[in-house]
Amino acid sequence: MVQVVSEESSFEKQFDVFEEIGSGQFAVVKRCVKKATGREFAAKFIRKRRTASSRRGVALEDIHREVYILRSAHHDNIVQLHDVFDIGSEIVLVLELIKGGELFEFVSQKEFLSEKETSGFIRQILLGLNHLHDMCVAHLDLKPENVLLVDRSGKHIKLIDFGLSRHISVDTEIRELMGTPEFVAPEIVNFEPVTLATDMWSVGVITYNLLSGISPFLGDSKQETFSNISAVDYYFDDEYFSHVSELAKDFIAKLLVKDPRKRTTVDQCLIHPWIQQNKEDQLTSSTVKAEVRQKWKTVRASASHPIAVRRTLGPWVAMKKQ
Ligand code: ADP
Ligand code: MG
Repeated sequence: MVQVVSEESSFEKQFDVFEEIGSGQFAVVKRCVKKATGREFAAKFIRKRRTASSRRGVALEDIHREVYILRSAHHDNIVQLHDVFDIGSEIVLVLELIKGGELFEFVSQKEFLSEKETSGFIRQILLGLNHLHDMCVAHLDLKPENVLLVDRSGKHIKLIDFGLSRHISVDTEIRELMGTPEFVAPEIVNFEPVTLATDMWSVGVITYNLLSGISPFLGDSKQETFSNISAVDYYFDDEYFSHVSELAKDFIAKLLVKDPRKRTTVDQCLIHPWIQQNKEDQLTSSTVKAEVRQKWKTVRASASHPIAVRRTLGPWVAMKKQ
């Protein structure tokens, strides 16, 4: 069992708490400062579930899992956990403060986004994911809200939110309806076993999204989105993809594959020419047009809510930040 309660004195004694910087269904994230050092952190307050039958709050077992995974992960593209406190009705995760906001927010404000830049973002997501997958951990909630920029220069991103993450092993099968409809893989929709490949599907959706400004499977209802996913019903609409390279489309097409065993793995993605050549600056860089990014905001404003079980995030445009 992972030790959750900090040995030292209480959270309130050690930290000053300031403004809210984000939230989910059962968690609120606030900026805080360690009194002894003046150093800033992000405190994620997760409400505990009081009884086994309650639907409010998060089961201790699930919080422990999030803590355990965060404690095991040490990578430049993954948020760092500093401390954990039990303050009664909530558990507080003291995390590294990531100040640059969400990736999509940053991208939508930029005048030009080159394919090279997009590929650079995806490469960093892959590097973080590679570290997790090496530990046989699947993130299972990869989406724009869970990718943050270290600063406004936009050079460095980190993955956050391990609330749905799972250790994948040969002995235990996980079949769960979880995640956010737009980004989940067919095996989630069809209640089939979750694997590391489940994350790779989400990487495909995020890449499609970043390059076009639209969402590949999003329907008018959750059911429609699910049936689009299950049928792998997407295409590269000329209106949004005429400027996108064939290599980029190939990268996406190899991820949006129904059979998880046939999807590209994180290792294979990292050596895909779209990632490699952009890294070496060999591709002519095309851009995502301003009007496409405007379309993004409109589409995402009407986007779906998560299926889940325990986390509900609003549409991204409506979310924060002051
Ligand atoms: P939930 O599990 O409820 O989705 P998250 O861990 O995703 O909670 O946090 C909710 C939001 O809070 C995120 O989308 C992000 O905007 C913000 N946030 C979370 N962790 C940090 C952090 N370490 N630094 C800055 N902002 C954060
Ligand atoms: Mg989240």
